Amino acid sequence: MIQKTGIGYDIHRLVEGRTLFLGGVEIPYVKGLLGHSDADVLIHAICDAMLGAAGESDIGEKFPDTDPKYENIRSTELLKMIVHLLEQRGWRINNIDAIIIAEEPKLMPFKKQISSNLAKIMHINEELVSIKGKTNEGLGEIGQKQAIASFAVVTLIKEG
Ligand code: MG
Repeated sequence: MIQKTGIGYDIHRLVEGRTLFLGGVEIPYVKGLLGHSDADVLIHAICDAMLGAAGESDIGEKFPDTDPKYENIRSTELLKMIVHLLEQRGWRINNIDAIIIAEEPKLMPFKKQISSNLAKIMHINEELVSIKGKTNEGLGEIGQKQAIASFAVVTLIKEG
């Protein structure tokens, strides 16, 4: 059995006039994340962790933000493409552990929905997807509600 672990990180700016998506779930809030895609910071961190574990570069290289094809794309679509790529390479997801760092909104009511949504997209049991929410204790840009960041660790396994 081969086992590999990857880490992913992402941050996006919070702005008015955008819908907030975290883990593919629409979260009611006065602002949303700014980006070329829907700027789903959690999915981007998870994608990079998966690609890192598989030794497959990163999402910036796979889906360049200069490519109009990916403009306003839902990040769930990017995740589906990466899941497909890893499945083709024989990888299975052993588990995912992720943190969302956001001063607002409160994420507790959405954590279960987020992990269940991600598990469905990744064809795994939702108990294998751990999502944690934290504030930044009022510190820095995240603490001042100007941005949301996310860290993710993914372990992949395959026969071999
Ligand atoms: Mg991003």
